[in-house]
Amino acid sequence: MSSPEDLSKTYDYAGVERRWLDQWRDEDFYFDWSSSKPRYIIDTPPPYPTGRLHIGHALNWVYMDIVARYKRMRGYNVMFPQGWDCHGLPTEVKVEEIHGITKNDVTREEFRQMCRDLTRENIGMMRHSLRLMGFSVDWSNEYITMEESYFGLTQASFLRMLKDGYIYQSEHPVNYCTRCETAIAFAEVAYTENTTLLNYFDFDGVEIATTRPELLAACVAVAVHPEDSRYDSLKGKTLTVPIFSYPVPVIEDEAVDPAFGSGAVMICTFGDKQDVVWWKSHNLDLRSAIDQKGVMTALCGQYAGMKAKECREAILSDMKESGILKRQEELPQRVGTCWRCQTPIEILSARQWFVKVKPEEIISSAKAITWYPEHMLIRLLNWTHQMEWDWCISRQRLFATPIPVWFCAECNEMILPGPEDLPIDPTIDSPKHPCPACGSTSFTGETDVLDTWMDSSISPLAITKWDGKTRPAVYPTQLRPQGHDIIRTWAFYTILRSVALTGEKPWEAIMVNGMVLGEDGFKMSKSRNNVITPDELIDRYGVDALRQWAAVGAATGSDITFSWNDVVAASRFQTKMWNIVRFSLLQIRKDPSRSADSPLELADRWLLSKLSGVVAEVTDALDAYQYDRGLKAIRDFAWSSLADNYLELVKGRLYSDLPSRAGAVSTLTTALDTLCRLLAPYTPFFASECYYHLAGGRIIDQEWPRLDYTDAGAEENGDLLVSVVASLRKYKHEAGLALNAPLGHVTIYTPGIEIDDGGDAGRTTNAEIEWRSDEPRLDRVLSDITFTMGIIGPTFRKEANAVMQAIRALPPEALEAGVDSVMVNGSAIKIPEGAYAPVFSYAIEGEEVVLLTVGDALLAIRTHA
Ligand SMILES: [Zn+2]
Ligand SMILES: [Zn+2]
Repeated sequence: MSSPEDLSKTYDYAGVERRWLDQWRDEDFYFDWSSSKPRYIIDTPPPYPTGRLHIGHALNWVYMDIVARYKRMRGYNVMFPQGWDCHGLPTEVKVEEIHGITKNDVTREEFRQMCRDLTRENIGMMRHSLRLMGFSVDWSNEYITMEESYFGLTQASFLRMLKDGYIYQSEHPVNYCTRCETAIAFAEVAYTENTTLLNYFDFDGVEIATTRPELLAACVAVAVHPEDSRYDSLKGKTLTVPIFSYPVPVIEDEAVDPAFGSGAVMICTFGDKQDVVWWKSHNLDLRSAIDQKGVMTALCGQYAGMKAKECREAILSDMKESGILKRQEELPQRVGTCWRCQTPIEILSARQWFVKVKPEEIISSAKAITWYPEHMLIRLLNWTHQMEWDWCISRQRLFATPIPVWFCAECNEMILPGPEDLPIDPTIDSPKHPCPACGSTSFTGETDVLDTWMDSSISPLAITKWDGKTRPAVYPTQLRPQGHDIIRTWAFYTILRSVALTGEKPWEAIMVNGMVLGEDGFKMSKSRNNVITPDELIDRYGVDALRQWAAVGAATGSDITFSWNDVVAASRFQTKMWNIVRFSLLQIRKDPSRSADSPLELADRWLLSKLSGVVAEVTDALDAYQYDRGLKAIRDFAWSSLADNYLELVKGRLYSDLPSRAGAVSTLTTALDTLCRLLAPYTPFFASECYYHLAGGRIIDQEWPRLDYTDAGAEENGDLLVSVVASLRKYKHEAGLALNAPLGHVTIYTPGIEIDDGGDAGRTTNAEIEWRSDEPRLDRVLSDITFTMGIIGPTFRKEANAVMQAIRALPPEALEAGVDSVMVNGSAIKIPEGAYAPVFSYAIEGEEVVLLTVGDALLAIRTHA
């Protein structure tokens, strides 16, 4: 505890952050492997070590840190590990750039070492940022996928799935990026729209339309619809491929659209996915016209050695010259491109490794997981339903987990390492025994490496200390937090692998976060100049303001448009709370003799009942990962119920030496203690500082608040009390009175309801207030008449004064009932509707009062008392 004088006037977020970073120890956040508490393991996303945390990371980590801190306070044994997903092409490219080399300029191992060095450096920088932001990461459970301990496990999982028939190798068409020179999975294909040319040409007498004339040398058949009678004479015959002059069969297939072009299509290996389907089902030849570097092969004759684009131009020009190109038209097209480098992908056939996709297994497991928000499950199910090909897991790159396989140089037998030999690099290490099939001791190591998702998709197994064989004791984990952009990759692959390796789902629940968009509503990018970095935000407003921004920016799962206004609002809330704490502490410290069971007044009971509701609301929101709902409830309570209403109501009591002062002090103490605890997961630095001044000690050692003070009657009457005070203050303001000016005597009638506010309303409004539960007895007195001159003037002209006099002379009963006409100078004059209105006032025991109504209550103000 500190004395209130220790609290600086303004909240110094930078100083507070430094102080508490120093107070928290790594051990405070370690998972306890021997604990009997319920466990809560978070299968956190391992970021790619680029060296920098971006605002999307910040959002992601804030969500996770809120959950981790909340669950610890709820008594869970929490694991909030930190992984690093190291392997992949971007690091290879960066290394080539930094060292001014290509990967072929140095040995495989030298290149890999350069990648590892760069990755270590980048991890160091990002680790530092995560620490500065105060995330309660469990550093005793850090993992780095490029390190032996981790990639050995990736290799063990590969061997296990190979043994169980989930993994196979095959010569099969795959998506291929000719710039990155590697196969990629379907999930890594991005799509863009553009316009291309559809070329109609004469194919041995048949008109064919194609967008890829450069694939002509890869043509293996011409297909027509079986019911297309135009081609009856050709069915079962062969045609000669123009320019390249070799025969191809004419085949029939239901999938051909007779309405497209001439109704005849050429099948190439491979122009698109449909070609692959036809190639398989009709058992056609394989002709590879493009190689893995995107260069035309020897099959292409005079075009061999050209890049695909050059070849297209050359073939079209040759077609024109020989007169077989008939016409060209523009065609909008959706092109699959490499997600990393945007190069259009080719479908090439090569020997690759695949993981079998078993949709039923994945679907039933995904359905057994609770999804937050629920609709994200649909995205996974849709993706799973549309999977046509197995997952291609081999890559022709260097910086990745090696595929732990050798082949016998004599008989080509596949040789596998024992689990105890892992990790291995088959391009460096050799098998321990001769070939079991032929006895040869000469082997070739597999040079292909694994898709990076093969590393990260065993993260829940790695953090639960899987031994490569049996299901871990602390499996499955409780939560997978991740972005919606990687549902079809990370979520999909993790479920697939967990089911294959353990027969069980990887997590009990998954929480999906949205993306952070720039202030202009677009994806943040350098070219749009709309990038906000976490550093920039923290420098200006502190970590807790960033955390509040992330928590309330949008519902979990929705994209968040960045807004400085939200950050400023967050910072203002902290200033407001800080002022509340400073004021309250001064009051609390004045009366050290307060006791917890001091009698409570209506306002106290009202606040405690409201606060109980807030605790229930925030608890419910955090249990459902609805960060925005929880924080909004806290802010609303603090601003409105506590600061604007309660503190105003009890100020008079706090400044007094009444016995009921103790009730206000104890209520205030409970409210602040509870607010600190509720805020602890959201704004840990701020909550730590406030709690320390209030109670001493560290908020991170405290439990989640349990407040069960529900009093519906106190809430209802307290709401009325609050409204009464508000309306009296408004009245004073409108009457031009100072807020602390005496108001006189106010009788408040609440028929049938006994209210005792302990004098709070009177002290707050500087009035003599009397609460009465009986019916008001008011006398109504006619005090004035108002005339509508806009009607009186034009209607009566010269007689207007006489008419008004006649109306004034009417008895009050007539005036109230309304009259149609009055007598002026002996004749009846008709009075139009709305020409006048009687004005009544009210009196109690003959004394005039001003009346206000507040809900069902009637306030009678005797200002002249
Ligand atoms: Zn690429
Ligand atoms: Zn052999």
